[in-house]
Amino acid sequence: MSSAKRNSILCPNCNKLISKDEESCPYCGTARPGSWLKNNPLVQGLFKEDGLLKALLIVNVTLYVVSLAMSMMANPEYIKQMLSGGLFSLFAPGSGVLYMLGMSGVGPMAQGHWWSLLSANYLHGSLLHIGFNMYALMQLGPLVLEEYGTHRFVTIYTVGGVAGFAASVYLHHTPFTLGASASLCALIGAVLFFGHKRGGTYGKELFKQAGGWVLWLAIFGALSSGIDNWAHGGGLVGGIIIAALLGYKQRVADKLYHKMLSAACVLATAGTLVWVLIYTLMALSKARS
Ligand SMILES: [Zn+2]
Repeated sequence: MSSAKRNSILCPNCNKLISKDEESCPYCGTARPGSWLKNNPLVQGLFKEDGLLKALLIVNVTLYVVSLAMSMMANPEYIKQMLSGGLFSLFAPGSGVLYMLGMSGVGPMAQGHWWSLLSANYLHGSLLHIGFNMYALMQLGPLVLEEYGTHRFVTIYTVGGVAGFAASVYLHHTPFTLGASASLCALIGAVLFFGHKRGGTYGKELFKQAGGWVLWLAIFGALSSGIDNWAHGGGLVGGIIIAALLGYKQRVADKLYHKMLSAACVLATAGTLVWVLIYTLMALSKARS
């Protein structure tokens, strides 16, 4: 490889071939396009498209298994309860354990658990709950990845989830809430926005499909008492707004700010999950002493 080749990079904002040492990109004017801040793996994207959905699946399932294991360790009798509560509470982790691991709601927020607005996205209350949400993620995920790319997907999923739980806590005062569905509703919002903006046969078809999911969620939410409609609604509206702000790939190619936002979301999520681990270990050792 020649030194000239080694010195050239793709501008992190406009993706044109430039020299690493440029003070600013000659095409788009981005300052110091070769700096580490703008070229580290976190900004470039940790995940390939299918890797992102897999990573989300792994984090959700791992936390669910951990919450079940902790519930059983806390009370060996718990296994009987997990099996006896009917379909909707089959393999439901204990509420004390879910509280420690970061479920959200007015209760945890009143105790200062502000991180629960993010951590609650990765917790589930029963086997059916996680099964349904992960199935929805695998259905919706590829579509949103296709039209928005991994960077914008990460921001829509993360910020949309926080918006959903914030709406649930501050507008409806839900005592306890958790699950990936606030983030999933943000993905639905992003599909709605894309379908509406893009138009044409394809856009109209997607808009109709996403509208069908919203209708189905509204009916299901009205009939069933255990559904947090405020988290769903907040996630949906949040997803539409974020999608409108970020744009979709066909209109706006990946820009530096898309990458920076997604890096911030990945850092915040990783930091939150590490903090939840520390908090849980501290709470457990306090309970023992
Ligand atoms: Zn550039």
